[in-house]
Amino acid sequence: MQIYLYNSLSRSIEEFTPIENNTVRMYSCGPTVYNYAHIGNLRAFLFADLLQRSLRTIGNFNLKWVMNITDIDDKTIRDSQLGSSVWLKEMGEQTHDPLKNLKALTKFYENEFLLDISKLGINTKHFYELPHATDYIKQMQNLIEQIYNKGFAYISNGSVYFNVAKWSEVDKYGKLKNIDWDNFKKGHRIDSDTYEREDVSDFVLWKQKKENEPYWDFILDNISLPGRPGWHIECSTMEYSILGLPFDIHTGGIDLQFPHHEDEIAQSKAGYGIEPNPFWCHNEFLEVEGKKMSKSFGNFFTLRDLITKGFDPLDIRFSILSAHYRSKYNFTFDGVIAAKKARLKVQDYIYKLFESTASPEILSIPNESNLRELVFSELANDLHTPKAIAKLFDFIASFPAEKLADSLKNELITIFTLINDIFNVWEINPKKEIDLQIPDEITILAKQRMIAKQNKDFAAADVLREKIKSLGFVIVDKKDGFDIKPL
Ligand code: AMP
Ligand code: ZN
Repeated sequence: MQIYLYNSLSRSIEEFTPIENNTVRMYSCGPTVYNYAHIGNLRAFLFADLLQRSLRTIGNFNLKWVMNITDIDDKTIRDSQLGSSVWLKEMGEQTHDPLKNLKALTKFYENEFLLDISKLGINTKHFYELPHATDYIKQMQNLIEQIYNKGFAYISNGSVYFNVAKWSEVDKYGKLKNIDWDNFKKGHRIDSDTYEREDVSDFVLWKQKKENEPYWDFILDNISLPGRPGWHIECSTMEYSILGLPFDIHTGGIDLQFPHHEDEIAQSKAGYGIEPNPFWCHNEFLEVEGKKMSKSFGNFFTLRDLITKGFDPLDIRFSILSAHYRSKYNFTFDGVIAAKKARLKVQDYIYKLFESTASPEILSIPNESNLRELVFSELANDLHTPKAIAKLFDFIASFPAEKLADSLKNELITIFTLINDIFNVWEINPKKEIDLQIPDEITILAKQRMIAKQNKDFAAADVLREKIKSLGFVIVDKKDGFDIKPL
């Protein structure tokens, strides 16, 4: 099926075809591993996963999906420095070697990140590579040298900067986002990895070594420049080194459009002479009460926070996927509970497809109600998950599993397997009672309630029952204890 995607470069929905044969080369800006990812960050990776799964399953493409691990930048350095208050004993002893400290901190959070995305149903085997920025320093220096030799970079105070004014004489700067040129001051430089949107400045390619920071030697134009890379150059280099230019699709959160992605385009084109990729796909923010979820606003939840509260990661996956990736998604606990209900309703339908029908009342399914076509056509149209899910629910309501002949149910099992290759939140198996996943937190609350009841503290028992209900489960009392069931 033909896939259409919104391209941030053209600001329109376009037909997607890979540059080379049947293989899609896709690069996703990955995590900065200086702390646990929050679920806003995780939305960006769930979106990239949705896209790559849809390309495989609906587009029938092979995928080379690369996601980098940013293991050196302002924040990773800040939090790995000697005496850092966020250093955990699991990272080992801090040393006097800044690079060793950086590696220990970033390795720890990388592992935690990989664990988080696995719990969220992202299959790490789907990655072609998960490259680390610190393994590509030589290649970064090489790209900086090419940009410099072509006259689009200059050295100042031991750092190297990209000359935006010079470059904008050759090519448009501001392809992904309109630029506020009125406030542009020629030669104004910025050193930090992130800065205000649309605030155009010469950006740093290579930063001068600072006291107690990791650094690498670099000779440019016979000048010794010990230091470390800027953030933007990292992605440009890894894309080129692993996927080659041009590759097909680049993904990231909407906040990366500027300056990060704009600078990637400028650097790659200035240095390698090739525009990196024709398709740019960006996900909107996950918000809390109308504000971007962000570490700096302090309004964030990590996946582990939510698991401790009793939420199932698959319900978080399904709730986030239920919103269109280009819409803002307001995160609430109620939203996850509603997603759980919806997910389990579909799960129940799938279980029933495995049960034999004795009833003589057999429904047929007309051609226009082909579930695969209904769902995939919505996903093929810029990954419209809310419409795809709505079609799925219409279908379930119209064709109850108990009323279908066994042959039809078998066909539907095959279709659900394909749909689940994308959503990855259902079991395509007959129901097994022991498969019911009750989070530990719920079991603990249920036991506390039983104790409260034994103590005749019925008020406390009721509070606990409500708490369990708010987390999506009900307690069914039995003579010899209780059962826990999803709502
Ligand atoms: P970082 O680890 O900070 O480099 O960010 C990883 C990814 O998360 C990037 O693609 C960001 O654009 C994305 N991101 C950060 N905050 C949010 C949010 N609240 N909602 C959606 N994506 C986000
Ligand atoms: Zn990047």
